[in-house]
Amino acid sequence: MSVSEAIKVHWVQRVLDWYDHHGRKDLPWQQQPTPYSVWVSETMLQQTQVSTVLRYYQRFIQRFPTLGELAVTPVDDVLPYWAGLGYYRRAHLLHAGAYYLVRKYGDVLPSTLQDWLEVPGVGRSTAGAILALGMNQRGIILDGNVQRLLARWLGVMEPKGSSKFLKILWQYAEALTPDHHGREYGQVMMDLGAMICTTRQPRCDVCPIKEDCQALEQGIVADLPVPRASKQVAQRRRHALLISDGEGQILLIRRPGQGVWPGLYVFPELPEWTEHHEDPWDYLSYQGSRPRFQGRLQHRFSHFQLDWILWQLDSWGSVGDVDSLWYAYTQVNQQPSIAVPSPVAKILKELALTRQVFCRKYQKELPGLVMPPFPGTRGQKIFEQVSQQAWQEWLRHQTMLINENHLNVMESSTQTFLTEQLEKFLDNSDYERPKGYVPPKS
Ligand code: SF4
Repeated sequence: MSVSEAIKVHWVQRVLDWYDHHGRKDLPWQQQPTPYSVWVSETMLQQTQVSTVLRYYQRFIQRFPTLGELAVTPVDDVLPYWAGLGYYRRAHLLHAGAYYLVRKYGDVLPSTLQDWLEVPGVGRSTAGAILALGMNQRGIILDGNVQRLLARWLGVMEPKGSSKFLKILWQYAEALTPDHHGREYGQVMMDLGAMICTTRQPRCDVCPIKEDCQALEQGIVADLPVPRASKQVAQRRRHALLISDGEGQILLIRRPGQGVWPGLYVFPELPEWTEHHEDPWDYLSYQGSRPRFQGRLQHRFSHFQLDWILWQLDSWGSVGDVDSLWYAYTQVNQQPSIAVPSPVAKILKELALTRQVFCRKYQKELPGLVMPPFPGTRGQKIFEQVSQQAWQEWLRHQTMLINENHLNVMESSTQTFLTEQLEKFLDNSDYERPKGYVPPKS
């Protein structure tokens, strides 16, 4: 494959000219860029949108302003600054890479592609970005967005991600990259991929390379890149246990350093219950006190979908010899102070919200109920006859009813509905198997 000098010059002129007028120049990692800051931002940007990374980059770089600072910090103290970004292996590799670089090079970072490719977690495109954006050298960037741009411009019909597809794109990316304007050229490739040649609704009318774009000429823009044959995504069902201590703390255990969510804190799970138990409700009733079905939550990983069935429990025997802690889930709007994956953060936030609704209404912290919750015979009956635990259970149930049915608590119809529910609860305040819960088929 060869690209004539004339084609290359024409290509470079057009894209650099577009960059002058429209390219992004105010992203935080573009301000006084260094190989370190570019490496951090590029690692965060893998599989993640710029808008998401913006929320994490500043916080991370303020805490770890230098490579040395990152290298000497235990990875456990780094993970909270990554929590929520997903793909946590990236954080582990970034940390391992920092350690490797400081040990091997000290303060002076490498300046060749080959040396950067030896750093843990640094692939060809990231190394190219570090050279181009961090050092203003010639560096070739071929992230997912640039792949789409080139695949369309060239009219590549090979399936996306296949070795042939990547071979063609790397060859053209090499051939088209100039020896000058390393930083601007690297940035414009990323900008055109992210801002103009987008997956949906590409803006071909304002694209600087539209005049010789093969996909546009052939009317197949929407068909490129050709997707790979889709694989059936495996499902993993797990029962997650929200075990509380009755004082606003919940039990979290730390995952091992490998596999899914390495080193992060998650809820304990019942992984293989189907082998031994027909129905987890029976099992949990035996093991812990009064399991309450909380709902389901699905989370998509790159290679499988996690289907979490959530149970709330007031106690549990023992989680065994694992790294665990009791976490206070009181602040709705605060980032968790420990590293938790986003589904756990979401549930902690919901638990905090439930607690806040409860506290705001009754002006009390858990475990509450030292006086009738409201005047009149019903309030007195609750105070005298209903256990605190049962009353709290009703409050949780009421909150769930409000949230799940999107009820407006100010409306009289809602008040009537909740009063009816409360009467039913008072008539039979023992715990029932929840109505919405259908035992899964084994
Ligand atoms: S003309 Fe359209 S399809 Fe072709 S590279 Fe530009 S934005 Fe992409």
